[in-house]
Amino acid sequence: SGHVQFENVRFGYDPSREILKGIDLDIPAGSTVAVVGPSGAGKSTLARILYRFYDLTGGRVTIDGQDISRVTQDSLRAAIGIVPQDTVLFNDTIGYNIAYGREGATPEEVANAARGAAIAGFIQALPDGFDTRVGERGLKLSGGEKQRVAIARTLVKNPPILILDEATSALDSRTEADIQATLEAIERGRTTIVIAHRLSTVVHADRIVVLDSGRVAEQGTHAELLRRG
Ligand code: ADP
Ligand code: ADP
Repeated sequence: SGHVQFENVRFGYDPSREILKGIDLDIPAGSTVAVVGPSGAGKSTLARILYRFYDLTGGRVTIDGQDISRVTQDSLRAAIGIVPQDTVLFNDTIGYNIAYGREGATPEEVANAARGAAIAGFIQALPDGFDTRVGERGLKLSGGEKQRVAIARTLVKNPPILILDEATSALDSRTEADIQATLEAIERGRTTIVIAHRLSTVVHADRIVVLDSGRVAEQGTHAELLRRG
């Protein structure tokens, strides 16, 4: 499951200015689609539409054939995990910050979430081992570690659909490369929309969609886009 379709999607924050001008996208279940394009093209807006932060002004979005405007916000949020660009952590422990992905988490659930994240491979992400650091405050983590917390928080939900909204673009290139491998691993088996800054970070995507001024300007594999220049 996790077949996502955008059909002639139109949206504007303000009625006088359309941001998405008729987007058609078919994202097969389990595939990775990268969305690239200039700043202001509407990439983040597209992701927020799928998460139903806003209602459309035209067209529709379906998941496995079901119009997302007809499903509950809770079931939509259970199905979709987002890793944002700049993760804002709560002034609390790493464990709490990860368990935040689960509604109304109790201390035991916090511990379970931490273990779950460790099983999912997060333990390798923190050099000193997850269990020893889960009680640490999240605020003092580096940018790369914060993004790993965001990844683990998303994995707690085990969502079939993943949105990576420039998840590594605020990091230095070495940290970005490190986290890139983790992201590619968690994308496997999930429908993934990767919003990317640079084509070089989405070579692995099944398809790359170039968004420009709220329209799909071009799409193809990385090799196809390079060939076309
Ligand atoms: P991208 O992710 O491609 O940089 P965005 O989707 O963030 O583009 O933004 C597309 C356009 O929508 C931009 O012109 C931006 O200024 C505008 N925009 C984004 N968020 C909002 C908002 N919350 N309210 C009004 N306009 C917004
Ligand atoms: P839910 O808690 O039901 O998963 P939310 O809309 O509260 O849904 O959050 C969805 C995802 O967005 C979270 O899993 C988290 O990754 C991210 N997120 C939401 N709010 C915050 C926040 N205040 N700080 C950091 N990340 C957040």
